[in-house]
Amino acid sequence: MRKMPQVLIVEDEPAIAELIAINLRHHGFAPVCAEDGPSACKALEDSVPDLILLDWMLPGGSSGLELARQWRSQPRTKQVPILMLTARGDEPDKIAGLDAGADDYITKPFSVQELLARIRAVLRRRAPLSVGEVLKVGDLQLDGATHQVSYQGEALKLGPMEFKLLSHFLHHPERVHSRSQLLDQVWGDAVYIEERTVDVHVKRLRRALGAAGAMVQTVRGTGYRLSANLQ
Ligand code: CA
Repeated sequence: MRKMPQVLIVEDEPAIAELIAINLRHHGFAPVCAEDGPSACKALEDSVPDLILLDWMLPGGSSGLELARQWRSQPRTKQVPILMLTARGDEPDKIAGLDAGADDYITKPFSVQELLARIRAVLRRRAPLSVGEVLKVGDLQLDGATHQVSYQGEALKLGPMEFKLLSHFLHHPERVHSRSQLLDQVWGDAVYIEERTVDVHVKRLRRALGAAGAMVQTVRGTGYRLSANLQ
């Protein structure tokens, strides 16, 4: 039997947390609730969920943004997708959330259907790489068995979204991908995600690749490509 996906809900408003939990349970998920940062961290010590729903505004000093950043930096939690719940609609805040390591965000108030669609999309995006597959372009290499990315033999650290993006680029080297193609093929469900999100993650990928960042090229007016030929 397939295990029910566990979702950690980090939300300080009991009514919202309960509403989300009831709906998730009803749709085949196993929700766990935490009302603040410390109890969320404690829940993560007990068990690593398949996804974290993280409220932006939390009591007690630690904002959702700081928690996202913290969890992204820890080996135990760095691969767990994070969906931010935010009451803010401002573009800079959304970008800040994605920069802190969130996979996506959803703005309150949201419908249950929209939330479920986003959760499923985020989970789908974690499509596994074939075990043992090694992808290589130039000196840039991704090992599907160890999930290790390296450039000229030196290991690099990538966030989960950047890893997926790079994996896609490495599967199709030298090919130009438009933003909407990347949304379709890497994010998996382009309905709720803005094309700007692609630019944010490409920027983060370049930064994470260091010297190899120049291999991820912008093709003006079209999109992006991974190339072994540095111009
Ligand atoms: Ca809150």
